[in-house]
Amino acid sequence: MNQLRFFDPHIHMSSRTTDDYEAMAKAGIRAVIEPAFWLGQPRTQVGSFIDYFASLVGWERFRASQFGIAHYCTIGLNSKEANNEGLAKEVLELLPRFAFKEGVVAIGEIGYDEITAAEDRAYEAQLQLAADNDMMVMVHSPHRDKKNGVIRSVDVAANIGIPMEHLVIDHNNEETVESVLDRGAWAAFTIYPHTKMDSARMVEIVRKYGAERIIVDSSADWGVSDPLAVPRSAHLMLEGGIDPEIVEKVTFSNALAAYAQSGQIDVEALDKAPTVDQSTLFGDSSVLRGQQPRIDQPVI
Ligand SMILES: [Zn+2]
Repeated sequence: MNQLRFFDPHIHMSSRTTDDYEAMAKAGIRAVIEPAFWLGQPRTQVGSFIDYFASLVGWERFRASQFGIAHYCTIGLNSKEANNEGLAKEVLELLPRFAFKEGVVAIGEIGYDEITAAEDRAYEAQLQLAADNDMMVMVHSPHRDKKNGVIRSVDVAANIGIPMEHLVIDHNNEETVESVLDRGAWAAFTIYPHTKMDSARMVEIVRKYGAERIIVDSSADWGVSDPLAVPRSAHLMLEGGIDPEIVEKVTFSNALAAYAQSGQIDVEALDKAPTVDQSTLFGDSSVLRGQQPRIDQPVI
């Protein structure tokens, strides 16, 4: 059987292990997007954001490459930390320094947490940055009052002038999907293990809505989460009798079509088998600790 290819367009790899990278590559995950988000506790200084953004475009991208996974990221001020307005102002000023670097495919993840005035200001300023530079936007929808949060996220983005094909609304569920698809934006779904949005429910959503503009991701991070949620959901869809072409779209090519609009993804390279050279270094750093480096010979 030919191995299926997957794209997980929302995963926080900085919080994951090399075992995860190995398991993901083995399961067929070929590319990931790591959105900038919070650390589980609030940052206290702008310097923490500088180093974090630098690691997303630097070390983490290298680390992924060492396991044959193409790593892209998004840059943005998350909604929770938008509420520290003094710090938020400094971070917003910092964003253009990172948003145009190689491998950055969108402004994100931005949007609402508690739907406060401060979140509104940060969201609008970042939408404006995206609109001015013709960039994609990845939106985190709130876990509370989700339906209103989603409708408002789309409305505000539309008012700022973000074309709907540049807008990805994430963390959807059965109650929000139509509000996103009807407007013409991309609807992403995060598969959380043992909770509200699991793989079985995803199968039913795809059965009902088909593949158009629907994207599956894991949002795996430092919490209880599953870095293999995308391949797991794909296999469950196939077992459930969903057309393999639809499964391929929602777990690979839709995310690619959406984020390749950034011009930052080498689409042809993803068609080829990845080659890995673990003898390379990032600065002075290697992912190895004395192990024999894996060096794949290019396939001719
Ligand atoms: Zn996230």
